[in-house]
Amino acid sequence: MMPKTLTIKGVSRREDEVKVAGRNSLGSYYRQLSVVPMAIAAVIAIPSPLQQTQVQKQERLAIAPSQQFDRPPAPKAFSVPSKFQNQIVYEVKLKEKVIALTLDDGPWPETTLQMLGILKQNDVKATFFWTGQAVKQHPQLAQRVVADGHAIGNHTMHHWYHHMGRNIAAREIDDTAALIYQTTGVKTSLFRPPGGFLKNGLAGYAKQQKYAVVMWSVSSADTDRNAQPQAYVNNVLKGAKPGAIVLMHDGGGDRSKSVKALPLIIAGLKQQGYRFVTVPELLEMQQPQK
Ligand SMILES: [Zn+2]
Repeated sequence: MMPKTLTIKGVSRREDEVKVAGRNSLGSYYRQLSVVPMAIAAVIAIPSPLQQTQVQKQERLAIAPSQQFDRPPAPKAFSVPSKFQNQIVYEVKLKEKVIALTLDDGPWPETTLQMLGILKQNDVKATFFWTGQAVKQHPQLAQRVVADGHAIGNHTMHHWYHHMGRNIAAREIDDTAALIYQTTGVKTSLFRPPGGFLKNGLAGYAKQQKYAVVMWSVSSADTDRNAQPQAYVNNVLKGAKPGAIVLMHDGGGDRSKSVKALPLIIAGLKQQGYRFVTVPELLEMQQPQK
């Protein structure tokens, strides 16, 4: 009954991320249908942009009651220095050998927990960029990531790449922020645009809202399914430099190869003399000394 993967056409790079975005959209789409029988007629077709808007409105209503916890998590904020609010950041210019690992598209079953274990074992704090959909599906995993002391960023609700008007962009970002807060007590000023696309309306809205738009300077290229984990490791070790921001994924698909690469990446960077910081810590380091 459930259709297979919805693939958005016309985007060739990071294809697996696109597929996952589509599958996630359908997942929540179906959940909405179970509580909104009026929408059943819409199930037959892949949602048009207009239908997506309608689904989004329903999701807005559905977020609050579905995310009730016995005890609200303690509030926690990941803010950025004012000079980075409303800026796009690829890396930070530093002499000190510090580097920030970022993990996108989770929280995700198995791989997120495996990576949390590796990070803990190595005493490394990373920065996780979450999609609202994944947070909705795995609230306990989200709470676990926060409890482990990692930094959190907003990666939109649906991981869409297409161009969005201001209202849709606002929903994608604001609803995700609200969901992250309701689930974990975290407020974040970090935003990463899905696929790194800066001109589809999302980054523009995020800048208006004083987010730091966090890109990356080194990609592990771990969305390349044909590559071996060692290739991800080599990509990072070759590109590493002081103040770099490294892109990896803990979610959005089968990330078992990323899990295999992570301890080798950490060991290799430590061997090169690097210390690991979160993105907010990295941004703070470029502030003038007081
Ligand atoms: Zn992503």
